[in-house]
Amino acid sequence: MPFGYNGKILHIDLTRGTMEVETPPESFYRKYMGGSAMGVYYILKEMPKGVDPLSPENVLTLMCSVTTGAAISGQSRINANAKSPISGAIGDSQAGGYFPAEFKFAGFDGLVIKGKSPKPVYLSIMDGKPELHDAAHLMGRVTGEVDDILRKEMGDDKIEILQHGPAAERGVLFSSMVNMSNRNNGRTGMGLVMASKNLKAVVVRGRQRVRLADAKGVTALNRVGPKEVPNNPDMDGLAKYGTASVVMPQNSMGTLPTHNYNESQFESCEPISGEKMAETILKDRETCYACVVRCKRVVEIKEGAYKVDPYYGGPEYETLGTFGSYCGIGDLAAIAYANQICNQNGVDTIACGATIAFAMECYEKGIITKEQTGGLELKFGSVEAMLEALNQIVANSGPLGRVLSQGSERAASVWGNGADECLITVKGAEAPAHMPQAKRSLGLIYAVNPFGADHQSSEHDWMIEEGMASDLYMGRLAMLGMPDKLAPLSLDKAKVKFAWLTEVFYSMLDTVELCQFVWGPGWTLYGPQETVDFVKAATGWDVTLDELMAVGMRRLNLMRTFNAREGVDRKADQLPRKFFKALGGSGPTAGIALTHEEIDSAIDEYYRLAGWTADGIPTRDSLKQLDIEWAAEYL
Ligand code: SF4
Repeated sequence: MPFGYNGKILHIDLTRGTMEVETPPESFYRKYMGGSAMGVYYILKEMPKGVDPLSPENVLTLMCSVTTGAAISGQSRINANAKSPISGAIGDSQAGGYFPAEFKFAGFDGLVIKGKSPKPVYLSIMDGKPELHDAAHLMGRVTGEVDDILRKEMGDDKIEILQHGPAAERGVLFSSMVNMSNRNNGRTGMGLVMASKNLKAVVVRGRQRVRLADAKGVTALNRVGPKEVPNNPDMDGLAKYGTASVVMPQNSMGTLPTHNYNESQFESCEPISGEKMAETILKDRETCYACVVRCKRVVEIKEGAYKVDPYYGGPEYETLGTFGSYCGIGDLAAIAYANQICNQNGVDTIACGATIAFAMECYEKGIITKEQTGGLELKFGSVEAMLEALNQIVANSGPLGRVLSQGSERAASVWGNGADECLITVKGAEAPAHMPQAKRSLGLIYAVNPFGADHQSSEHDWMIEEGMASDLYMGRLAMLGMPDKLAPLSLDKAKVKFAWLTEVFYSMLDTVELCQFVWGPGWTLYGPQETVDFVKAATGWDVTLDELMAVGMRRLNLMRTFNAREGVDRKADQLPRKFFKALGGSGPTAGIALTHEEIDSAIDEYYRLAGWTADGIPTRDSLKQLDIEWAAEYL
């Protein structure tokens, strides 16, 4: 058995009900390492051009990496990839939890899933043995019920389960894949693709631990983690208050999207903060396999209108943003309840909350009337309206739910009447709770990212900006070739270089399957050097930072190649009009906006750094330099 990985990829054809085990050579693992680089490799080779994302011809991949399952923080991650039903471009989403490590222990590094089963099935992989089972009895049930049934059925409490929820069965476009009933491969509609294949769940259990080249080296690195958490204020905040630790700082900096991104500060931010959650409804902190940070929230509400079961976890910062400040709602219990509904039904909380906020703005502006809302007073700040809209969305029913279940872009097309002015989407993906007007390099990345607006595809501006950047951040960024601090609110060539280099680093993290809260180029527990040391110790390969960065570039080039083949190019690298209008409200970012000139010139410079054409398409030369010239035939 090789170091770090199993050496086995499982190919499943659900139409035929057949399975084959591929054993790729070491050179394949070293070149692609895992995650979405490996996934898009198979998707390009095995999916014909132009297929309907919900047809059997779409190829769905689930990939761990050459480090998943090592006993150290921030390595239990898995990426899902397929053609996205939201955008028609590549779909990509990463999740953590215990499922990814258990998947590896079950004996495989990844799944390539093709076809469509004639009836609902679930896949079990128990100690290396894959099997398909009837899943008719699981359909229509919320995620927690499915977990209970499958644990009893498999006779094992320690199985890990990845599933799509009932929302996907009802055709909700932004359906997620859920593991532990509270960790989501949330973005780009991967749950709907899974449902379109009649694959209800993947169940894994294995006793085979990952063999490491230098187990002592990994243990030594892992010891640094617990010692460093209290000394690193960012990590300490993440551990104490979860991702919700940033609610208050985002608000004070004027980067908390409010009232569907029209303002940047929310007057009721304190009641939905991580600190308030810790004081009130927090029951426990959870973690992913072997991670000391324990950033996951577990909340419980036993009394009142919004009862919340701790099994469904607790809201992340993004969820507090989209269901909270985006919708003008400062009721933590109601947001925790909305989070539970999303986890029970399997929907992306970012897309869902942002779509409701979009509809609220449309209603307040008179773009839609009570006829379209089914009589609902869909106003900012109305908890009742938010929850009614959410319940209709997950059921894909009612006059409002049937439209909003398809996301805000499609809703804007249905409604017309200027509804598109209220959109905050890029490639169909609703923007997360980080404002590109203030974090301008993020505006660039929202535009050019192959799968739409995403906040975890590059480092955020404040990491390198004067007044915010610490010595720790700057020391790490210097390793990537960015030794100097930059001016706030800039988007000049130096800032574009920062965006590109940190995007490449993050792209590598989505390939080596590492958590961006633990491994990163800035505020994280470990920096670039430790990332190199870890991959070396896990695999025994004499890797360098340059080699890891090349892995990140391979992923981006393969994704852009896929997109180019599907006709998605620079024309899709567009930001919504709202980002170019001056922010309202008060506070430090009131009145600011992006300009078309700066974004257009940043995109030009970004393509130049990437070595792509002026239309954002990889060239044969750029692919050749990364030793993936084979992909040029798909351009
Ligand atoms: S930092 Fe949080 S999300 Fe990342 S691996 Fe640890 S517990 Fe999981």
